[in-house]
Amino acid sequence: MISKKIVLHFPKRLVDEPIVYKLVKDYDLKFNILKASVTPQEEGLMVLELSGKTENYDKGVEYLKSCGVKIQSLSHDVTRNETKCTDCGVCIPICPVEALKVDPKTRKVDFDSKKCIACELCVKICPTRAMEVHF
Ligand code: SF4
Ligand code: SF4
Repeated sequence: MISKKIVLHFPKRLVDEPIVYKLVKDYDLKFNILKASVTPQEEGLMVLELSGKTENYDKGVEYLKSCGVKIQSLSHDVTRNETKCTDCGVCIPICPVEALKVDPKTRKVDFDSKKCIACELCVKICPTRAMEVHF
């Protein structure tokens, strides 16, 4: 048996397809959706815990990849380098779980690491490279 938390990135064309349900039907896997959203670019994003027999798990992951789904494991962490952040706010609309928000009192951009699912969307978009990935 295997159980892993993974992040799935669905291209726009797959957002409405019942891909995850096929994992249950064809590969006998169990899943628990922890978070799901559609980014401003209309890419689907889903964080789920996937479990089942190792052999089936591997086949299921291969199936997802063959459909064009990008898979990322949740084994790393994203943090913010406070000295680099300029509170520009560019990252706010891209974060699918609202881990980056403007504090209404200070007008600064707050980063809530407990909410962060390490999807890395903000890492690519941040102009000062303040969001860092740690493995
Ligand atoms: S995009 Fe980067 S610099 Fe701008 S608020 Fe977000 S973390 Fe800070
Ligand atoms: S990596 Fe960035 S965009 Fe993704 S959840 Fe964490 S703070 Fe939000």
